[in-house]
Amino acid sequence: MDTQNITKIIEGLEQGEKLTFEAFKMLMTAGGDEKKKLMRAARACADKVYGKDIYIRGLIEFTNYCKNDCFYCGIRKSNSNAERYRLTKEQIMDCCRQGYELGFRTFVLQGGEDAYYTDERVCDMVSEIKRRYPDCAVTLSIGEKKRESYQAFFDAGADRYLLRHETANEEHYGKLHPSELSCADRKRCLWDLKAIGYQTGCGFMVGSPFQTLENIYEDLIFIKEFEPHMVGIGPFIPQKDTPFGNMAAGTLDMTLRLLSIIRLMNPNVLLPATTALGTIDPKGRELGIMSGANVVMPNLSPVNVRDKYALYDNKICTGDEAAECKNCLSLRMESIGYKVVTARGDYKVI
Ligand code: SAH
Repeated sequence: MDTQNITKIIEGLEQGEKLTFEAFKMLMTAGGDEKKKLMRAARACADKVYGKDIYIRGLIEFTNYCKNDCFYCGIRKSNSNAERYRLTKEQIMDCCRQGYELGFRTFVLQGGEDAYYTDERVCDMVSEIKRRYPDCAVTLSIGEKKRESYQAFFDAGADRYLLRHETANEEHYGKLHPSELSCADRKRCLWDLKAIGYQTGCGFMVGSPFQTLENIYEDLIFIKEFEPHMVGIGPFIPQKDTPFGNMAAGTLDMTLRLLSIIRLMNPNVLLPATTALGTIDPKGRELGIMSGANVVMPNLSPVNVRDKYALYDNKICTGDEAAECKNCLSLRMESIGYKVVTARGDYKVI
């Protein structure tokens, strides 16, 4: 494979040309200098839109009860080894207060699909956060709901919603989820969220069981068509008490290449270097930023519940207070010439 080809493919992406499957395969396998070229181009693209600023999101994992049974996930309902918890509204407000003092201007409320958190309770929580911190954005990540519920959360003040599509291919979707869940429903939720007016995020796990390069290509095409404001990708990491407990994890190499490709295909997108990426490699998040990511999401959950939100094994930062997490990430970003900023960090169009 010659350098010229890779350069051409990158230039094509920069000009908004469609990525063919053949070109995609080349980007996923190109070695040495060519791989570096891909990453450099993606980083330059992110710099053009977001400069040296890295946005931080305070992640509050407020419940690990879940009615779903996704085969990959450590908080699936069948995992009887999971120690269940849910935070009270007061505890959540306390996380926000701490976060606000530390400079967070986005709070991400993530959890399993927990029936205790009715629409009314979610709305109450969202409106209280927005009342106390009107200069902050609230992001929800609480799974699949009826359109009416999404509308109610939005009316209560929620700004953004993260719902990874997990895989754009129905057959692959079926291998990762029980039969009650479908790719079509998941996509329907995403289109509803966008139509309501949320800044919407989709995404998928890299190296999830049974995933093929064709599947990933479909993910990229779906993302292009959906035009999300955010894309969350991170390596799949096995969790020992799930049906996929013995499967191989996704790799750093593939995740970085995909971050770069997603950045080049969607120049304005908000793209986190995820905790899962930091878990499979000690420099994963720094490398993620250098490959085109522009967001990090440190944990604001109380330390005593951190290790219970165990989607996968060996998750990092479960023992650190919020302030330590923020400082650690600020230093990590500075070490590569970037800067964590105090800002809502909305989607930018330039
Ligand atoms: N219940 C919410 C939040 C899910 S957790 C929802 O349905 O959207 C957030 C994300 O973690 C999931 O979308 C999934 O992509 C990721 N995740 C779950 N298990 C994982 C694992 N074993 N390895 C890596 N990522 C995982």
